[in-house]
Amino acid sequence: MIPIKTPEEIALMREVCRAAAQVLEHIARLTAVGVTPLELDLAARDKMAELGVESASYGYKHNRNPFPGYTCISVNDAVVHGVPGKQPLRAGDIVSLDVVVRRNGFIGDNARTVLLEPVAEEVRQLCKITEEALYQGIAFARSGNRVHDISHGVEKHVRPYNYGIVDSYVGHGVGRRMHEDPQIPNEGQPGTGALLRKGMTLAIEPMITLGDYRTVVDKADKWTARTRDGKPAAHFEHTVLITENEPEILTRP
Ligand code: MG
Repeated sequence: MIPIKTPEEIALMREVCRAAAQVLEHIARLTAVGVTPLELDLAARDKMAELGVESASYGYKHNRNPFPGYTCISVNDAVVHGVPGKQPLRAGDIVSLDVVVRRNGFIGDNARTVLLEPVAEEVRQLCKITEEALYQGIAFARSGNRVHDISHGVEKHVRPYNYGIVDSYVGHGVGRRMHEDPQIPNEGQPGTGALLRKGMTLAIEPMITLGDYRTVVDKADKWTARTRDGKPAAHFEHTVLITENEPEILTRP
């Protein structure tokens, strides 16, 4: 069942999503050659404390394995759930920052891929098209539409480029829990899936690769999901509120 938020809950979602956007903006600005993902993660932790929110990622358990970072930082061939590490970032890297925070029992979720110039032209295009695809998907997040209208909006924008559309991780409802119904794949048949209604809050998040769409989870940290072929991946995400009219992007910076 897809939770419908009350006006009071929507007010709390607006608040926490604004903080999620502020934390993401903060670490995106700090992302630079020579900086380590671990340093970015600790900067995010401090910003969260300053804003009075807590990380929803830290300690999040999967197969009894708690996530060790305050954010997910996924570099180059890492798609999502990257564990922030001590390897300094280099020119040419692309860095996907994913920030999920909680306050007053509600969660905001957003992500963005930052480019460390000079980046190869094909990688730059991958990031540009993935970001555009996010907004193409969001455009369908309207009352009366279906979940897969969003999916199709993303897919349609990406298909002409022959990119890989990751299907082992998908967008999702978000609110009291990090992952609520519905699942929102990044490809799908228009006019299918659950009906979208005013008051739903959804995390829409295309994860797009330059090659193979399949992923493998790092054997050592049991979290970082990488492309199977080692080619780069991009990831952009917003938490969006379904309204009577235009979708409201709650994590807009
Ligand atoms: Mg998400």
